[in-house]
Amino acid sequence: MNDILLLGKLTLIITTRCNLKCALCCEYVPQNKPFPDMTLDEEQKILEAVFNVVDRVHTLHLSGGGEPFLHKDLPALIDAAFEYESRFERFMLFTNSTIPVSDDLLAALGRHKDKTLVHASDYGIHPERTAEIYKILNANGINTRVLKYYGEAQDFDGWVDFGDYKSRGRTKAELNTVFSNCAVTRDMHGNWRTRDGTLHWCSRSQRGLELGLLPMFNDDFVDLLDKNTTCEHKREQIRRIMGNQHLQACDWCSGDQGTGDHSKRYPAAVQL
Ligand code: SF4
Ligand code: SF4
Repeated sequence: MNDILLLGKLTLIITTRCNLKCALCCEYVPQNKPFPDMTLDEEQKILEAVFNVVDRVHTLHLSGGGEPFLHKDLPALIDAAFEYESRFERFMLFTNSTIPVSDDLLAALGRHKDKTLVHASDYGIHPERTAEIYKILNANGINTRVLKYYGEAQDFDGWVDFGDYKSRGRTKAELNTVFSNCAVTRDMHGNWRTRDGTLHWCSRSQRGLELGLLPMFNDDFVDLLDKNTTCEHKREQIRRIMGNQHLQACDWCSGDQGTGDHSKRYPAAVQL
């Protein structure tokens, strides 16, 4: 009998559109044309593929590469995710706290509020709108965690700069250091995510690959929708990535600790 295959966190990137233009956006949203939003049908296919391969997910996100509150079908996407409620412990949504909460979204969050956490970044950009969003979420009992990203004392002391997508020519030992010191590895044990059915360890490698900014590092991801490989093989591929000492993509990344600019923090959400 195989061991349980658990992903700590899995993000479905339902949109790569955003209304903000943050200079250090780690998703490189302002610098790139968005992909079409994930449809309900696509989400259902991806979730089916995920849970055919993975036993459990601790935290399921519908967020990722853009602002999820912009997705017109977000309430239906949330309901569809909860078809798999028995397979995850917690459901999360990120938001940049600038898009008003629609009645339909509020209703969907309310239907699933026992497991739901809204992770709200407060950039101080539209303070009145942001205050109204938090008021509505709180009034409806939606569990909301606000991270302050403006002025003094920003959460995590601000953002990091992962740098350009270019090879640093690191040695294997240096790659292992970058990878093991990166918060994705050290703190999260993988920030798993997918937009198109390919499953990636971190946002940096996933976005770099889909935008053509990285060479096609086939060993850094698993294609969950590949009909030519078995579920067991996909499980092995995921376990192999979990056991990696680094990704190929780590040579094209500054990392966020101990390398490049030595984890210097920058003010968050400076608009281009
Ligand atoms: S809010 Fe800023 S960091 Fe977040 S996706 Fe939009 S542009 Fe990127
Ligand atoms: S590419 Fe490597 S160093 Fe960069 S964020 Fe991903 S895991 Fe971390």
